[in-house]
Amino acid sequence: MTARPAVPQPSRPPPAQRILFVSDVHLDVDAPESQRQFLDFLRTEAASADALYILGDLFETWVGDDAGDNEAVLAALAELTGRGLACFLLHGNRDFLIGERFCEASGCRLLPDPVTVQLGGERVLLTHGDALCTDDHAYQELRTIVRAAAWQRRFLSLPLATRQLLANEARAGSRAHTARAMATIMDVNTQAVERAFRATQAPRMIHGHTHRPGVHDALIEGHPVQRIVLGAWYEQGSCLLYQDGRYELRTLPR
Ligand code: MN
Repeated sequence: MTARPAVPQPSRPPPAQRILFVSDVHLDVDAPESQRQFLDFLRTEAASADALYILGDLFETWVGDDAGDNEAVLAALAELTGRGLACFLLHGNRDFLIGERFCEASGCRLLPDPVTVQLGGERVLLTHGDALCTDDHAYQELRTIVRAAAWQRRFLSLPLATRQLLANEARAGSRAHTARAMATIMDVNTQAVERAFRATQAPRMIHGHTHRPGVHDALIEGHPVQRIVLGAWYEQGSCLLYQDGRYELRTLPR
């Protein structure tokens, strides 16, 4: 008996790209629920994605790669990147001292802030978002100081215990400042957003930092632009999924 020739199968289309974005996870040993939820997110959602973009403030504080904090998250990221997930990381205002050692150990690739990436044939501007909050002058002054290479070298040369002490003081200071400052100055400045769109010519921007998740459409010189803001993970999770040319901002209930 001769075997029937196999019916030719149509060649399978390439699997749909599934890209995830998160920001402001604010992982902290004092907030085990966020940590548990994020680890769960990595094991489920991220495990089936092609790429994960972490747009800053993954950690509540980061005083240097030698601190040995959050080994569980580092291990989970290393496992995912080891299996082929492309994981990109931007510095936030709290974890801007994440360095090469963390990236090597986790397999994450550090991107500059801001950065433009190509997604589905479109330029997309990614940024943490703190640089857009230009109405908060006190914060912008501080940002200029602590983002200088010389300041960072000096800070990282201090003993770990001293760095932790200083970071705790900075956190308390930041909380007091946030409580005092008017809500409007803690949001992005409209002109700063427009400048960023004009400078990059990107029709879409994704950022976090303000903890005000939302999708904002606008026109710049007659061209439609969209700004997608990711939420923080304090009370619940927040992620943006890009799939089949569409963006979907999701709340992840705890
Ligand atoms: Mn932030």
